[in-house]
Amino acid sequence: MQEIEEFTDERQKGWCIHCGTPISTISTNWDHVPTKGLLDRPLPSYVPQVEVCKQCNSGFSLDEEYFITFLSCLLSGSTAPEAQVNPKIQRALARNPALVARLDAAKQAFTTPSGEEKVIWQPESERINRIAVKNARGHAFFEFGEPMLREPNYVWAMPLVLLTDQQRTEFEKVAASGWPEVGSRMMTRIASGADLDKGWVVVQDDVYRYAVVQEGTLMVRSVIRNYLATEVSWD
Ligand SMILES: [Zn+2]
Repeated sequence: MQEIEEFTDERQKGWCIHCGTPISTISTNWDHVPTKGLLDRPLPSYVPQVEVCKQCNSGFSLDEEYFITFLSCLLSGSTAPEAQVNPKIQRALARNPALVARLDAAKQAFTTPSGEEKVIWQPESERINRIAVKNARGHAFFEFGEPMLREPNYVWAMPLVLLTDQQRTEFEKVAASGWPEVGSRMMTRIASGADLDKGWVVVQDDVYRYAVVQEGTLMVRSVIRNYLATEVSWD
């Protein structure tokens, strides 16, 4: 992924995008969006970052741990520590039987729209939604310089395999008809094509992509591991 400079309104950069506290009054961290734990090593040469307050940053850590271990278990097909590729995740599962139990509960049988029986991993939606909103705020701010301090009007996360063909086609359509603000990273992407594939910003192939569409509403979508689809929007 390429690094892109941006030149949007400096006055928009004064607050933590999660809690609205003025940045000048608190200690802050640069937070990767998405968090590096969602990506494969070696990491892309550049991963977007936003400045947030330390309290918000650490407040997401349990939900992020759940999200990251969930995806690892899903990919390995098992919650056994030794089945995981990442040693950090192996250790997290080995020392935390409660987390293993929660993840085991995510496995559910289901029937596809075409009538096929399958096992699916359906994560705890509140935890997944909190991380979806965290990432959406980060992506919106990074691409458009817009701090979305309000609670979103809509939050949704669903395994792609549960969508019908028509829902999938609608979900993949993210190209906006208007042009983003001059100076924003999204404007630079549209002009140069940087990391852009049919409107999606590709952080890492087959691992993480997102789209930010500003057309009256502001909508952020992501696809994680070609498995989980998320959508967050603000009126
Ligand atoms: Zn904060």
